Amino acid sequence: MVMENLIEIKNLFVEYKTKNGILSQDKIIHAVNNVNLDIHKGEILAIAGESGCGKSTLAKAILQLERVKSGEIFFKSKNIIKLSKDELKSFRCQAQMIFQNPYASLNPKMKIFDILKEPLEINTKFSRKEISDIVKEKIKLVGLDESCLKLFPHEFSGGQRQRIAIARALIINPEFILADEPVSALDVSIQAQVINLLKELKEKYNLTFLLITHDMSVIRYLADRIAVMYLGEIVEIGKTEDIFNSPLHPYTKALLSSVPEINKTNKKVILKGDLPSPADLPQGCKFHTRCPYVMEKCKHSIPQETGANHKVKCFLFS
Ligand code: SF4
Repeated sequence: MVMENLIEIKNLFVEYKTKNGILSQDKIIHAVNNVNLDIHKGEILAIAGESGCGKSTLAKAILQLERVKSGEIFFKSKNIIKLSKDELKSFRCQAQMIFQNPYASLNPKMKIFDILKEPLEINTKFSRKEISDIVKEKIKLVGLDESCLKLFPHEFSGGQRQRIAIARALIINPEFILADEPVSALDVSIQAQVINLLKELKEKYNLTFLLITHDMSVIRYLADRIAVMYLGEIVEIGKTEDIFNSPLHPYTKALLSSVPEINKTNKKVILKGDLPSPADLPQGCKFHTRCPYVMEKCKHSIPQETGANHKVKCFLFS
């Protein structure tokens, strides 16, 4: 079956400078390196990888919250890299974000009704009655009662606040949601409820999600496909069951072996050394400094992506 792409990313590079003290030179952080990625309409695509691998920078670049160095990002076939102010406003209505910390993302001085009506007042011409009806519909959609609308964010639990943040993300009926660690700040006991809510909403409205999380169990439950990122590159991408059942890239194997509920054999793959700095990327395959299967050519040559639906960048498969 040919999948329709909502988002297509081509040869994307994102880099930024860090201040390195008065005497030293500024460093250039190569956060996203030549990423090519399609996000299918109606899917949940998860980006997996260690902290610092570039997944959040990639997500921000897609939402135009991070300036790209070069490359293209198409949303519904339109290149969104250089949008006018009005076009950017229209794009932002179609692409919303759910943040990690629901308390920080809700204005503590505003009642929930005002938080939810704000995007409708800014972006639509609905009447007050229509706005009020939409706000009531959306708060019920996320499993909360209308009476919540009169309260302030601090009067809710973490799980309820994340439901409110989800209602706000959905208030102007976006097609695309970027969920950045949507449950990692919540108690384990309520994570499952919020995960189930996201899954229900995705199915009900045919939403497209980009899920950013370090939690492989959340990825396994929610995601249709997984892209594994290492030092700003996608090194493996495929359907969730293919990645979990037969991971190909040595980095993916190491990532999965560190999750006890997935790794039933308890044979953990220990990687050599730390994640290299994105300011000082290794030559050749960027994983070669830590790879248990490194060969001489890995140190000088860059492996190309191979495979059809399950793709990998590694000389072991080319
Ligand atoms: Fe390891 Fe070489 Fe494959 Fe890179 S290309 S992951 S270093 S075997």
